Amino acid sequence: MVRQQLTQPPAHVSTQRAPRTDRRPMAAAVVGVTVLAAVFGIYPLLDRADSPVVRAVDDALDRGPAASGATGVEGGEIPDGVATLDDDLPAITGLDPALADAVRQAVTDAAADDIDFWITSGWRSAAYQQQLLDAAVRKHGSLEAARRVVASPETSRHIGGNAVDIGPTEADYWLIQHGADYGLCQVYANEIWHFELLTEPGSTCPPMLEDSAG
Ligand SMILES: [Zn+2]
Repeated sequence: MVRQQLTQPPAHVSTQRAPRTDRRPMAAAVVGVTVLAAVFGIYPLLDRADSPVVRAVDDALDRGPAASGATGVEGGEIPDGVATLDDDLPAITGLDPALADAVRQAVTDAAADDIDFWITSGWRSAAYQQQLLDAAVRKHGSLEAARRVVASPETSRHIGGNAVDIGPTEADYWLIQHGADYGLCQVYANEIWHFELLTEPGSTCPPMLEDSAG
């Protein structure tokens, strides 16, 4: 359907410029392939230095937090380490509304079981995610080891606001047991606190991945 529209020059384009409009299907194809590459995760397979996302993040970090405007609280850091869905923080307001709604229902039902529920991380900027990864590299000694505990800016679902980290531990166990009722699933076997909206409410969660590198 899209291709059909593109082969017809728009009415406002004069026929004298027809050769230029002939390039449009090619341009559309290039854009399409680029989008597909991004959607299907080709970028994470590229060498880090070749990744436009990583280069953009590195450039932002080189300019410093003040210039990038996307680290600290503005980048999704939670100042006290814990927040609720009612806090006016980018980490919370940047969450996907459907995910926030599911968590809100879970919080309400968990409260009936006397379970406290904290959000320890929500939406993150790519720059903040890179900071977390860099810190993990320093702590664990290599990028390979770090990526088992912290996803890269290209792969972290926190960046789209599609993941939440929940605490304390008793809330994690409550959500592991009941989360599928709300569509919320534990994703990584080594992260009992990280949940995403991955199934229809009341259905079954997909099999877990070993870690964020898996
Ligand atoms: Zn997480």
